[in-house]
Amino acid sequence: MPNMCKWVPILRRNCKMGSRFLTLVTVLTCWYAAWAPAEEVIIDSSAVLETLDKSHPRLMLKDKDLESLKKLYAKDKVLQKCLKDVLEQADADVEKPMLTYRKRGPRLLRVSRACLHRIYALSLAWRWTGEDKYASKAVDNMLAVCAFKDWNPSHFLDTAEMSHAVGLGYDWLYSYLDAGTRERIKAGLIKNGLEPGLRAYKKAWWSKSEYNWNQVCNGGLIVGALAIAESDPTYAEQIIPAAVRSLPRALASYGPDGAWGEGPGYWSYATHYTAYGLAALETALGTDFELLQIKGLAESGNFPIYMTGPTGLFLNFADCGERSSRRPMPCLFWLAHVYNNSFFAKAEHAELAKSTARPQHVIWYMPAASNKSASKDLDRYFRGPVEAAVLRSAWDDPEALFVGVKAGYNQVNHSHLDLGNFELDALGVRWVRDLGSDNYNLPGYWDDKRGGKRWSYYRLNSKSHSIPLLGGEDQDPFATSSFIKFESKESSAFVLVDLTSAYKEFAQKVTRGVRMLRGRRAVLVQDEFELEKPCELVWPMTTDAKIHIRKDRHASLTLKGKELTARILTPVDAQFTVESAEQKPPQKTNKGVSRLVVRLPRAEGNVRVAILLSPLWKDGDVSSVQLKPLKEW
Ligand SMILES: [Zn+2]
Repeated sequence: MPNMCKWVPILRRNCKMGSRFLTLVTVLTCWYAAWAPAEEVIIDSSAVLETLDKSHPRLMLKDKDLESLKKLYAKDKVLQKCLKDVLEQADADVEKPMLTYRKRGPRLLRVSRACLHRIYALSLAWRWTGEDKYASKAVDNMLAVCAFKDWNPSHFLDTAEMSHAVGLGYDWLYSYLDAGTRERIKAGLIKNGLEPGLRAYKKAWWSKSEYNWNQVCNGGLIVGALAIAESDPTYAEQIIPAAVRSLPRALASYGPDGAWGEGPGYWSYATHYTAYGLAALETALGTDFELLQIKGLAESGNFPIYMTGPTGLFLNFADCGERSSRRPMPCLFWLAHVYNNSFFAKAEHAELAKSTARPQHVIWYMPAASNKSASKDLDRYFRGPVEAAVLRSAWDDPEALFVGVKAGYNQVNHSHLDLGNFELDALGVRWVRDLGSDNYNLPGYWDDKRGGKRWSYYRLNSKSHSIPLLGGEDQDPFATSSFIKFESKESSAFVLVDLTSAYKEFAQKVTRGVRMLRGRRAVLVQDEFELEKPCELVWPMTTDAKIHIRKDRHASLTLKGKELTARILTPVDAQFTVESAEQKPPQKTNKGVSRLVVRLPRAEGNVRVAILLSPLWKDGDVSSVQLKPLKEW
C-alpha cells in the first residue's frame, strides 16, 4: 500500500515563454507518493495581456474559424446535423420566457446553466444565420441576469457559470450590441461575476481544490475576464494569473491515466470547464501557459469511453447521478484537437449518431478521421487517486459482458464508502448496480469525517454497495485501496484489489479478485479474508432483477426478459438470501431494488467467498469453474 503524502515539497524553475518569464512552482499534491507533481504557474500580471487579441469575437471561435466551419459544412453531413440540432435548440430558446432569479436550496445553478445553454445556442445561431431574432433573445436574457441582485457567490459555481455565459455572449454579440447595452452587460458582469471572483481568490477554498469546482470556477472567470479585457484590463490581469496558478492543482488529478476521482459524471463537468478555460486562453491570448502539458490530461478522453458499459451506463461511482450514462461530450472534440487524437473524435462521432449535438460540438468540430484511429482494448486499468478497472467481452455489442471495479480513496470529493465495488452488464442489462447519489440538500450530506452524517445515508455508506461487510460496519472513511494485479488475455482477464485498509478493525488482510473467464462468458468474484476476530461476514450485490432462490446454492435473476445465474462456489454450506434496498424518504427510496446476499453469521480465521455470475447466453451459460487461491491468480 503506497503512503499518503502529508507534505508538499516546492521546487521552482524559470521558464521563458514568449516575451514573458514564468515561474513554475512544482507542488506535489499527490495522494500517493508515486504521483506526478502539479505545477503552479506564476505569471507576471502586468504582462499577461501583452498578447491579447483586442478584436471581437476572440473567445473559443473566431470569425476566421467560423468561415472555415462554413466551408466544411457544405460537404460534412455530421456537421450539418450538429448545426441543425443547434438551430432547433435556438428556435426553442427564442420562445422561452425570460430567466428569473430563483434559487433551489442554496443554489442558483439551474438558472446559470439555463443561461449558458441559451447564450451558446442563440449566439451561435445568430453568428451562423445572421438572423436578429437569435441575437435579440440572447441579449434580453443577458440583460435579465445582469439585473439580478447577485449571481449567488456563496455557491460560487453559480457565479462562475453565469460569468461564462455573459462573457461569451458579450464577446460574440459585440458587433450587434449598441454602446449603452454593452455598458449595461459589462456592468452586470463586473458587479455580479468578476468583483466577487477577485474577492474569492483571496479566501475561497475552491482555488486550492483538486476537483471540479476548481476548473468550473477558474474556467468561468477566465471567460468573463477575457471578454472585457481590452476596456477593463484590471480583471483579466488579476484573474488570469490567479486561475493559471490554481488550475494545475485540479489538472494533476487526471494523472497519470486520465481518470477522475469524482466519477465519470463529474469528469464531464470538470473537463468541459477545463476546455472552456484553456480554449479561451488560447484564442484570446495565444497561449495555454503550458497547462496542456500536465500529465494525464492528454489521456483523459479515454476515461468516459472506457467507463461506459455496453448498456450505455457508466461505471457509476462517487456522486454520479442514478443511472448516469454516456451522453454527448463535446469536450472530446476539444481534446481530440489539442492532442491530435482521432480516437476521441471517433468516439464522439459514434455518440452523435444517436444523440443531439450541442453548440460546442460545432465550435470544436472535428471531422471523422478517414484513416484508422487506435483500436480499443477490451480491458483497461486507470491509475490515480481513485483507480478503476474495466473488463469486457467485446466493443460495439450492446449484449456484451462487462464488469467494472473501483478502488482508491474513501475521502475523495463526492466519494461513497465503496472500495472494491463492482457493476456488471450482460445481455443488454445492468445486473449489478450502484444506486448513485442522493439529494445534495439532505442535512450533513457533505459531512464526510469519521462518524459524519454523510455516512448515515444508505446510498453513500457501505451498506448499499456490492462490497463485503464485516461486523455490520461501514468501510473506514479514511481507507485507501489499490489494484495489486491486472491481467488481460484473449479469453480471460482479472483484477485483484487490496481492501485491507477498509476493514482493519476486523481483518489482517482482505483481497477481492474479479475475473472474466471461460471465453469472457462469466464473471467470478472471489473475496479472501484473514480475520483477526470472529464477526459477521456479508457478501452482497445490489440489483434491479427479480431474484428466485434455487436449491444447491443457486439464485436465478431475471430482468427485462433476460436471465443470469448466481452460484455460491464457496463456502459450500452458505446460502443466498434476498433483502430489500428500499429506504424511506427523505432519502431516495430505491423502489424495487434488491440485495442478493450471502450472510455468514460468525466467520473466523481464513475465509473465502466465491460467487460465479453467469448470464444465460443463447448457447447456455457457464456453470462451474475451478477455484484457485487469489495468490495463484
Ligand atoms: Zn455508490
